[in-house]
Amino acid sequence: MRLSQYFMPILRDDPKEAEIVSHKLMLRCGMIRQEAAGSYSWLPLGLRVLRKIEQIVREEQNRAGALEVLMPTIQPADLWRKSGRYDAYGKEMLRIKDRHDRDMLYGPTNEEMITDIFRQGVQSYKELPRNLYHIQWKFRDEVRPRFGVMRGREFLMKDAYSFDLTREAGQHSYNKMFVSYLKTFARMGLKAVPMRAETGPIGGKDSHEFLILADTGESEVFLDSTFHDMDWSTFEIDYDNVDAVAKVVDEFTSKYAATSEMHDQADYEKRVPADRRVTGRGIEVGHIFFFGTKYSEPLGAVVQGPDGKMVPVQSGSYGIGVSRLVGGIIEASHDEAGIIWPEPVAPFKVGLINLKVGDADTDAACEKLYKALETRGVDVLYDDRDERAGAKFGTMDLIGLPWQVIIGPRGLKDGIAEVKNRKTGERENVAIDQLVARFAT
Ligand code: ATP
Ligand code: MG
Repeated sequence: MRLSQYFMPILRDDPKEAEIVSHKLMLRCGMIRQEAAGSYSWLPLGLRVLRKIEQIVREEQNRAGALEVLMPTIQPADLWRKSGRYDAYGKEMLRIKDRHDRDMLYGPTNEEMITDIFRQGVQSYKELPRNLYHIQWKFRDEVRPRFGVMRGREFLMKDAYSFDLTREAGQHSYNKMFVSYLKTFARMGLKAVPMRAETGPIGGKDSHEFLILADTGESEVFLDSTFHDMDWSTFEIDYDNVDAVAKVVDEFTSKYAATSEMHDQADYEKRVPADRRVTGRGIEVGHIFFFGTKYSEPLGAVVQGPDGKMVPVQSGSYGIGVSRLVGGIIEASHDEAGIIWPEPVAPFKVGLINLKVGDADTDAACEKLYKALETRGVDVLYDDRDERAGAKFGTMDLIGLPWQVIIGPRGLKDGIAEVKNRKTGERENVAIDQLVARFAT
């Protein structure tokens, strides 16, 4: 992409309405634009990040055996009356009437609809287990939408739903999602600590929230510092191996970690030596629940068991805040100059800076490199604007692409470009003809 042809409305100054750094930076970079309280348009740069996060979530869900579907945002109220949640949900649910005066709602979550889809499609225990998920916009009329995409009213969520014959089988489905969450967040450069959680309006027995640590998080957290020493990303897992999956869950739940709602100071002091106690704030990026037959019973999602009897299925639901993660990653990874994208979610991998637009040789060298990188499938943003070098450096640092390649007449004489690592700030001189091989991996 050529910056001269891009739509990236950069703000020079910090927007007054933004209280936290991720919100400020997303507005300054032109990633999003607010349309109403808690509702945003995603502009090209922001949308690229959202899509990358979404794709990582999708790949890890698929790997764990979940199947992607897509349910509508607008749901009929009748299903929710059956579960009793139409009245129970409160003002956060946006209720709508269609032209025939039928009650509809903008889905805040999808337990009812997916349970009904499952009910129609599966009759026998032989077709179990199943896990269905979608990545879809939700609406919750939050009391206090704030912090940009972190607490929106309309937001993108991945929500998965598992269906099993027995409690034990359901536990394995729950554990698989637990492990896939560790993998998912690790791929984005995050350590999202699983913490035992309350089940809230979803209801149920077992629940964990996944939180990333950040000063601006809305939850107070208490944890054992040895969480940092665990293997978050490189462990291999066979999702069909019940014991192996359970073992990972055991490892990650054996250490103390709790939000203030579940925190038990006496237990904390007993289990964690004083020098390992970390108290701070966290952002909830995922939440998993096991709720048994809470929805299958009222909605009649029964299957025929091996003994011929019809039994309601055992279910869980598993959410990831896809749009919240965009802000969450920025909270976890930035400096005074701007965002520092972890490579897997970066909107572009390389920012190519032409230091002297109009100089025939520099233009030609940049063009050639730009085209070669594009041809090899490397995401590159080429700053081909006729601007001061300082402004170009500032913009590249602000939008936080992992690598900057800087080409100007001086280095070009020797066939050299400067490569800057945004995260470490390290700069090195690299032969221009080696750059394609270096980035096209
Ligand atoms: P919170 O406690 O932050 O209000 P929740 O517990 O109500 O969230 P869940 O029902 O667990 O939310 O939803 C699953 C995930 O969706 C959450 O872990 C979070 O990452 C994301 N999420 C929930 N509400 C919002 C929101 N208003 N804006 C952005 N993301 C959200
Ligand atoms: Mg939650």
